[in-house]
Amino acid sequence: MVYTDTRDKTVKADFRTAVLNGMNAQTGGLYVPTSFPKLDKNYLFKIPEPSFREIAFEMAKPYVEGEIPDSDLEAIIQDAYPFMPQIVPIDPVTYVLELFHGPTCAFKDFGARFMARVMSYFNRNENDNLHILVATSGDTGSAVGSAFHNVSGIDVTILYPDGKISPLQEKQLSTFDGNVRALKVKGTFDDCQKLVKTAFTDVELRNKFRLSSANSINISRLLPQSFYYMYSSLVVHNRIPHDSKIENPSIIAVVPSGNFGNLTSGLIAAEMGAPIAGFVAATNANHTIPDWIETGDYNTRPSVATLSNAMDVGAPSNYERISFMYSLEQVRKMFASYWTDDKGTLEAVRLCNEKTGYIIDPHGAVAWKAWYDMRNGGMEKLVNGDKGDISKPGMTANVPSWGQEVIHKNAVGIILETAHPAKFGATVQNAIGRTPSMPDRLEKVMHLEDRAIPMEKDYESFKAWLA
Ligand SMILES: *Cc1c(COP(=O)(O)O)cnc(C)c1O
Repeated sequence: MVYTDTRDKTVKADFRTAVLNGMNAQTGGLYVPTSFPKLDKNYLFKIPEPSFREIAFEMAKPYVEGEIPDSDLEAIIQDAYPFMPQIVPIDPVTYVLELFHGPTCAFKDFGARFMARVMSYFNRNENDNLHILVATSGDTGSAVGSAFHNVSGIDVTILYPDGKISPLQEKQLSTFDGNVRALKVKGTFDDCQKLVKTAFTDVELRNKFRLSSANSINISRLLPQSFYYMYSSLVVHNRIPHDSKIENPSIIAVVPSGNFGNLTSGLIAAEMGAPIAGFVAATNANHTIPDWIETGDYNTRPSVATLSNAMDVGAPSNYERISFMYSLEQVRKMFASYWTDDKGTLEAVRLCNEKTGYIIDPHGAVAWKAWYDMRNGGMEKLVNGDKGDISKPGMTANVPSWGQEVIHKNAVGIILETAHPAKFGATVQNAIGRTPSMPDRLEKVMHLEDRAIPMEKDYESFKAWLA
C-alpha cells in the first residue's frame, strides 16, 4: 500500500515509514492510505460471518502488502487479540458493541496492541531497541504500556503528572516491570508533554537512542480499529432477522468521540464494504466537530473537563484526516452529530439502566443518549425543518441521507462502548446508586506493587535519567 500525507498529496510512503514516523515531520501532516480496497461481498456476507481474527487478517492485508508476509501478519493478529469485541442487544433496535474486553478495559487496546507488534516487527533486524516515549494524562499510558509490555526490541517510558490521575489509572500504568517504566513527574500533564517534545528535538539524545512515539495519530493504531466495525456490522446484519422483525434495516454506528480516531476507523470499515449506512458523531461539551458540521467553520478551542474525560479534546487530531478524505457536504450526508453535557451524561447512565438494565460507562452513555434522543423525536424535528440551537445540547440541524430510516423505524444502532463502567465507578454510582462490579483484571492491578520512579520536571534531570 502507498500512503500519502494530508498536507501534501505528492508524498508517497510505505507502511513501515508511516508507522515508525507517526506523522510527517516535514509537513506536520498525517499519513493516509491512498486507497481503501473493498473486500469481496461473497466472503463478507457468508453465513455464519467470518470470525473477528479472520476479518482482522483480511482487512489488514492490503495495508501491509509487500512489507509483512501473510504468515507474519497472522502471528501479529493472533498475538494482539487474545480477546474479542462482544455484541450485546439491549433493546430491539440497539446493540452495544463492548470494546473493553482487552487487558486495560478500554477500546484503545485494539489499536495499541496491533501497533506495538507491528513496530516490534519492523524493528526486528535492528541492533538497538526502539525507545517509545509517551506523556499521558490518564488512559493512553495504560493502553500503550500494556500493549508494549514484554514486546521484544522495544522499551517504553511513560510520563504522568504525579498526583493528577486517578488511583486506578496510576496503578494501571505504574506497576509494569521489565521493558515498561513509568515516571511520576512533579508537574502537570503539559510539563510531561514538554519533556517528551524536548527529547524528540534533542539531536544529542537522538543519536544515542532510537526514539519513537506511540500516540493516537499513528496509522497503525487507526487501521486495526476498523476491524471491529466490520465484524460487528456483519454480526448485527445477520442476527437482526432473528432479533426483530425489521426487514433490511439501515445499520448506524454511534461513536463517542474525542480525537475522532475511532470514528475515522469506522469510515475506513465502511469504505471497505462494512454494511454501515451512517454514523453518529457523539461528543461531550467539547463539541468542536458538531459545530463544524453545523456551521461549516472549524474552530479549535481549549478542552473543558467532563465526566467522559477521555473525550475532552478541543482540537481533534483526526479532523485533518476526515476533511482530507471527504468534503463537508459528504460528511453531512454520512454523519448525524450530537453533543451533551455532564447533566445529560449522568441522565443517560441512569436512563439506559432504567430502560434496558444495561450499565453503561460515561463515554458510551454519550453515544447511547444521542441514539435515544434521535429515535424519540430528535430526527423527526429536524426533518420537519427545526433548526435547533447548537450552543445547547442536542443534534446538529443536518439530516444525513439515512435520517428518514430512523423516523420510519427502519434503522438499528450499534453503540460503541469504549470503556468498562467499573473504570468510572463513582460516576456510575452517582447516576444509578450502585457501583458496577470490577472485572478480575482491574481488581488484580489494584494490589500490584507501585514501581513508578519520581522525576523532577526539568529536562536535564529527565535526560540524565534516560541516559
Ligand atoms: C480515547 C477514548 C475515547 C475517544 O476516542 P477517540 O478515538 O479519541 O475519538 C472514547 N472513550 C474512551 C473510554 C477512550 O479512552
